[in-house]
Amino acid sequence: MIDNTFESIFLIGFVTGCVIRAFYTKRCRRDRIPASRADWLEWPLIFLVFIGMQVIPIIYLFTSWLDFADYHLPAGGGWFGAAVFAGALWLLWRSHADLGRNWSATLRIKEGQTLVTQGSYRYIRHPMYAAHWLWAMAQALLLHNWIAGFAFLLTFLPLYLMRVPREERMMLEHFGEEYRSYMSRTGRLFPRLWG
Ligand code: SAH
Repeated sequence: MIDNTFESIFLIGFVTGCVIRAFYTKRCRRDRIPASRADWLEWPLIFLVFIGMQVIPIIYLFTSWLDFADYHLPAGGGWFGAAVFAGALWLLWRSHADLGRNWSATLRIKEGQTLVTQGSYRYIRHPMYAAHWLWAMAQALLLHNWIAGFAFLLTFLPLYLMRVPREERMMLEHFGEEYRSYMSRTGRLFPRLWG
């Protein structure tokens, strides 16, 4: 059950994040969608993320089933987590706004897709995945429980590792030299500070 400030902060951030995602998903709903490049592996991995990001935290916050795995974290850790969550939500919002209609939940190139290289995409190629990593870290800092705290970090890793190389290959195939030169100026999750 929700029994401290940090769990309440987590819930507020969680709902805010879901509203941001729902708003932009709705905007894309009427787009003409060509066949996805996603293969059979994507759906079980997306489902796994859904469990770690949404189902387990909700179970933790509204039942006492996982309380046996609680641990103590000094308050400073919780406040740091709140700041990280705020950063995650800001980046989630900005990356959705910058990507606009080019966004899709699975790998695909939409009709009329353009390459976004500005805003949150200026220095890194995967600001939206970076936002998910920040959210996952915030979850660990705000929910002081071995299972609920680490569920998103653990479940996001396989999707991230599987998807990023495929996504970049797909973008290279479609945008060619334009994406290659974009890659040379940017990093995946961290800005390229050298060369
Ligand atoms: N990896 C990006 C986008 C995630 S959404 C991020 O983390 O911010 C996934 C979809 O975004 C893919 O299907 C791809 O078609 C599209 N995409 C990824 N990078 C893009 C870019 N720079 N410009 C336009 N579309 C992009």
